[in-house]
Amino acid sequence: MLGKLGTGVVDFLLPPRCPACGERIMSHGHLCAACWNKLVPISDPLCNQCGLPFEYNAGDRAHCGSCMKELPAFDWARAAVSYDDLGKSLVLKLKHGKSGAGVPALAAMMARLVPPERSVDIIVPVPLHRKRLLQRRFNQSQLLASALGKKLGLPCDPFVLERRRATPSQGTLGRKARLRNVEGAFNVSESRRVRIDGASVLLVDDVLTTGATASACAKTLKRFGAKEVGVVAFARVALPRRS
Ligand SMILES: [Zn+2]
Ligand SMILES: [Zn+2]
Repeated sequence: MLGKLGTGVVDFLLPPRCPACGERIMSHGHLCAACWNKLVPISDPLCNQCGLPFEYNAGDRAHCGSCMKELPAFDWARAAVSYDDLGKSLVLKLKHGKSGAGVPALAAMMARLVPPERSVDIIVPVPLHRKRLLQRRFNQSQLLASALGKKLGLPCDPFVLERRRATPSQGTLGRKARLRNVEGAFNVSESRRVRIDGASVLLVDDVLTTGATASACAKTLKRFGAKEVGVVAFARVALPRRS
């Protein structure tokens, strides 16, 4: 929205700082070199479906134990970094911070995750319930989704999925309890159904834990005709899921 002149004014008023540690940096929307080096990127080999990192190469089409037991409703999922110390602190800063200062840096890392053989028609963030949106004032997944849309040159529509009810925090629940918790929690808003029918959707969330929320969203999107649903998150829990 701000042109070159605008960016210059912002830099003058608010010198760019690393969104993770506050260190002065050259330009907005990046991490400092020290923080960059502390992030643990998620890399191959991965579960072909949910993107869980494997310790050894099990082949291109390998699935993790959890996906073998029950396939999630999304077709693929990838995350940029492991949800450990720094990954966690970046996500928390994004969640509870006043502005989305770290968003462009995070979105740039996520933009590289879409596998080249997958096509995407529309980007959709995992929605927050109205009540939680009022508490936090913004939906971090929506910020990431819209920055990702700009980066990839794809449309992002935050009004596709709606949360029908506020689900209790997933924090302490196991996988099965999480699945129950989010079942039936989402809907595709009436005005967006035509847009979703036959579309390849890229669902965006900040963190993937068990994948239960993403799977419930994907199930809903497919019920309304989505051809394919992929998931991109900034961070994911890199340990095997427990059921
Ligand atoms: Zn830093
Ligand atoms: Zn898996």
